[in-house]
Amino acid sequence: MMVLEILAAAFLGLLIGSFLNVCIHRLPEDESLLQPARSYCPHCRAMIAWYDNIPVLSYILLRAKCRACGASISWRYPLVEAITGILFGASVYVHGWNWMGLKHCIFAAILVDLVFTDLETYILPDEFTLGGSVVGLVMAALAPANTRFLAFFLPATWPLWLIGVLEGAFAGCILAGLMWTGGMLFQKIRGKEGLGLGDVKMLLVIGVFLGLPATLLTVFLGSLLGSIVGGFYIVMSRKDWDFEIPFGTFLGFAAMMLSLFGDVFFKWYWKLG
Ligand SMILES: [Zn+2]
Repeated sequence: MMVLEILAAAFLGLLIGSFLNVCIHRLPEDESLLQPARSYCPHCRAMIAWYDNIPVLSYILLRAKCRACGASISWRYPLVEAITGILFGASVYVHGWNWMGLKHCIFAAILVDLVFTDLETYILPDEFTLGGSVVGLVMAALAPANTRFLAFFLPATWPLWLIGVLEGAFAGCILAGLMWTGGMLFQKIRGKEGLGLGDVKMLLVIGVFLGLPATLLTVFLGSLLGSIVGGFYIVMSRKDWDFEIPFGTFLGFAAMMLSLFGDVFFKWYWKLG
């Protein structure tokens, strides 16, 4: 029964989202994820009881306030939990209750962390970019991307898991390499940093999970969104044109779209051609 599997995935996503909130808060400040083991209020540092730590629900029941000190809890907490839950459910709906579904759930969790950490702190933690790339290579063996570029050049007799791993490694390295080179050139010409190393490492993990065709489309879509939304924000808020746009946030959003709709899009696209 597909509905039960989607609900199970969404429920798991809520719990993972709760954990991601801890990562988003602690990793940019180099705090340990394990110590303290329990969540605490960032304002008064009071430990949060399990019944006040239920994804989404506790936020509503507590009316967005800490039980101990009354400080307001950021709307980011229930938002991250809800989004992760929805993305897990959607990933299983699109890809199935299998390795491919699991791969896209893991990818969604990585992207949610990167999107919100970049938005709040302009930091893209290595734990998720580099660590995520290692996990992505394992998942590329278990569930190779459906759209592959490298496959055209590899002997058809090679096992699919190997082709999947090579495609992921190739896509990640090519795009991270191109972006790194582009950033270097920009810095040489303009004399200021255009792209952070975090963005480069983020492309690595996206490439490993999505393969080359979908990653190229992610970069295109992310840049387009970043320019339009970022430009609109700068004009509306009358910020300086030097205002740094959190590129990772837009890249992450685009990667989520490709993770869910990439296969459908490429099937449709190749029918046209
Ligand atoms: Zn508090």
